[in-house]
Amino acid sequence: MTLHVRTNQPNLENFWMPFTANRQFKAAPRLLSGAKGMYYTDIDGNEVLDGTSGLWCVNAGHGRTQIVEAVARQLGELDFAPTFQMGHPIVFSFAEKLAAIAPGGKDGGLDRVFFTGSGSESVDTALKIAIAYQRAIGQGTRTRIIGREKGYHGVGFGGISVGGLVNNRRVFPQIPADHMRHTLDMERNAFSRGLPAHGIELAEDLERLVALHGAETIAAVIVEPMAGSAGVILPPKGYLERLRAIADKHGILLIFDEVITGFGRLGTPFATDYFGVTPDLVTTAKGLTNGAIPMGAVFASRKVHDGLMTGPESQIELFHGYTYSGHPVACAAGLATLGIYAEEGLLTRGAELANYWQEALHSLKGLPHVADIRNLGLVGAIELRSRDGAPGARAYDVFVECFRKGLLIRVTGDIIALSPPLIVEKHQIDTIVSVIADTLKTAA
Ligand code: PMP
Repeated sequence: MTLHVRTNQPNLENFWMPFTANRQFKAAPRLLSGAKGMYYTDIDGNEVLDGTSGLWCVNAGHGRTQIVEAVARQLGELDFAPTFQMGHPIVFSFAEKLAAIAPGGKDGGLDRVFFTGSGSESVDTALKIAIAYQRAIGQGTRTRIIGREKGYHGVGFGGISVGGLVNNRRVFPQIPADHMRHTLDMERNAFSRGLPAHGIELAEDLERLVALHGAETIAAVIVEPMAGSAGVILPPKGYLERLRAIADKHGILLIFDEVITGFGRLGTPFATDYFGVTPDLVTTAKGLTNGAIPMGAVFASRKVHDGLMTGPESQIELFHGYTYSGHPVACAAGLATLGIYAEEGLLTRGAELANYWQEALHSLKGLPHVADIRNLGLVGAIELRSRDGAPGARAYDVFVECFRKGLLIRVTGDIIALSPPLIVEKHQIDTIVSVIADTLKTAA
């Protein structure tokens, strides 16, 4: 990979950069100007291998012709349609196609699809559906939602309330929610391959919160089956099964936030399929449209949907939607994306590569600063020991150096998170690992 000096830096005055500490950020942002397949191109023409699928979303790789053409065609035919008691044919066929691969399979029952514009909107929608469902079936005192420490569920008020990442929550008021303990236990589980063996008992934390608040106040529990943004925290073996059983015992709905795990990340279409645990609601976004057009979707079980439609409290209607719910151009992108996933077997490709990926990542064990390595499907994390007094600084330096060497990784605190597009080839996995290895060997 040839590297050039960066030029043409933009004016920083007007664009308020998201997820950026703008008070301190005065550096030149890295700028991308193109993308094809597994690679980005930066503004100076350097190739950058995408180790993160953009932001966990470009599962089929960049610049896919089918998506480009479908979007262009749709924009020319019908660019927008209002959503009040109206629609357009493509939104119905997209929902039908999604139902055929819905979490838990086509007989799993999560085949009612509500479209949103993003993961955050999907989360807020699922929380509202859960509370409205409880109301509709005569359980109106159930308004509390249980999330988890270190959970990330987007940045809407619902999402930050159930989320457990401090930076997202501080300074804002929140809706009633409480949090189970997280499941990261490096003392017992460091360098686990796949699911950690220890920690199923952490599911009992839900019982603690039921005892504290009363089951009759709790509408739902929401978890990421695999917590991505906190740095790839995997559920211990048996944990999600236990959570399902406890939720059932107390009439609490179980919501899986599959914004990251949906659409093949773990080597199955959804994490729901991977774990064989069927929740009542599943939130998705990202891979739904291959990241090309913003869109999210909530999959609801028939139980939840039918409870809302026919429950005894018939005055309860969920009046909810977005201007862009089921946007025709997003649906066109989504349909083309599903076509690619099916043709290329991408929703299960992670299972074929999982072993190779696992061995490649774990070859980094023993390199300087490496405290833990975690992997599942085509997702991975390398947790580094923090530099004294400067949490996050070491991983940030590794991120900058990897980018300079032509590899895009994502860091959160001192954790490197990896999630390459599902089209990744073995030699590209080798490159990801060797660039990180070289960088760690010389990292301060
Ligand atoms: N939930 C989870 C599990 C996520 O990982 C994310 C985004 N990383 C979101 C919700 C929010 O999605 P968006 O940024 O599209 O609003």
